[in-house]
Amino acid sequence: MNAGTHARLRRRRAKWSSVLRLALLIALSSLAVMHPASGAQPQQKEAFYPAWAEQARFLQPLQVLDTDSALGRRNLHPKQITLKDMARMHGHLCDGLVTAWVELSEALHALFPNGVVDRTDVRVVSKNAPCWSDAGAWMTGARVNQGTLMLDNAVGDGFIVQRISTGAAVRVSLRPGVYPPQLAALEQSIRARRARGEAVAPAEIDRFERGADDYSRKLLNTPPKQAIAVETLAAFQFPDHSLNPLAPRSDIINRDAPRGTASETK
Ligand SMILES: [Zn+2]
Repeated sequence: MNAGTHARLRRRRAKWSSVLRLALLIALSSLAVMHPASGAQPQQKEAFYPAWAEQARFLQPLQVLDTDSALGRRNLHPKQITLKDMARMHGHLCDGLVTAWVELSEALHALFPNGVVDRTDVRVVSKNAPCWSDAGAWMTGARVNQGTLMLDNAVGDGFIVQRISTGAAVRVSLRPGVYPPQLAALEQSIRARRARGEAVAPAEIDRFERGADDYSRKLLNTPPKQAIAVETLAAFQFPDHSLNPLAPRSDIINRDAPRGTASETK
């Protein structure tokens, strides 16, 4: 073979090698599309949680202690929970959930001034509405089935929160005028018409949802103490829950028990 033939062969090999490399690259990228779990997970868009909530000025996570297991000793280290966690579990971010987060944060910080909430030591009175009672349970550790979450509509758009071990209790509520009265009237009117079986125009529901989001955004960008009233309740007697089928909480029975060497690093 002469020098010219060698050069031609080298060029041909180089060409095929780059074609093969390209084909391999295409095959690998299509495999990644078919099996996203095999590589980096594409970030799923979390449409349920808007950017205005992500960017809210006064929205803070909550530090909480729970227990380690079904025979739970109290956690050695706190975990952090967020409004976003709660919205994910509740199913949506609504004005009630946002109000509840801000109110309960104020109440829990008043009862746990070191900033770490012991969720084995809290009971709550909430009105019986989906957003309020979900927040009353998920943020605080109180539960209807354990007699620590009492549903009573007399508490209104607020909560009574009690630290069980000390008896200290506070009532939290929105200060007058914080919730727009025209928004409350629109919600009331839509609910009343639906209760009578009447149709409601989609534009009205849109208008309510826009107003609720505007209110929520404003609340999360207001210093909480400006929006929320915290009233100390002396000698608060938690309401009798005995007519409900209740059982004591079973996963905190060892919360003060000593630990062996194996669990000390938890
Ligand atoms: Zn809700």
